[in-house]
Amino acid sequence: MRRVCNHVIYRESKSCITGPHFPATLFVVAFISVATYFFGFVAVDVKTNFVENPTATRHKVICILFWCLTNGLLMATACKDPGIMTGPTSLPPNVASDPNLYEQWRYCEKCGIYQGPKTRHCNDCKACIAELDHHCPWMSKCVGKGNMRAFKWFNVSWIVFFIYAIVALFNE
Ligand SMILES: [Zn+2]
Ligand SMILES: [Zn+2]
Repeated sequence: MRRVCNHVIYRESKSCITGPHFPATLFVVAFISVATYFFGFVAVDVKTNFVENPTATRHKVICILFWCLTNGLLMATACKDPGIMTGPTSLPPNVASDPNLYEQWRYCEKCGIYQGPKTRHCNDCKACIAELDHHCPWMSKCVGKGNMRAFKWFNVSWIVFFIYAIVALFNE
């Protein structure tokens, strides 16, 4: 367990930091798995009257690949450090001396650190997050500087998967 700002919020190993809503992430894994199974191993078979053919086999293989890709990107988003800030505890000298920069910085009383222009505090995660976009319970925690790229690719992956499934079911 890692203490951030005097609150125990993140379970941490060397390569994995999960947030306070990790059960919701497991629900998403289950949902993707059920949807994949329904499309690749039920709907496709019903459509082909349970007769094995190259098209049905191809759909199954693509389903499994998409399942791996989508869940891999989901876990990458859920397990990466979103950008937890533990400093600075005093204003950087260049900020303190420049009125324009000074205006953009705030002090977070909960964390005891100074927030740069793109850093905001999350009450769920109880931490200041660099380039915080939003707190996403489905990802278990905040989406910020550290996991934004994985989050975007996760969304691309499931949307492409979804479109593929719709086209495959209705257009063949
Ligand atoms: Zn804070
Ligand atoms: Zn958060």
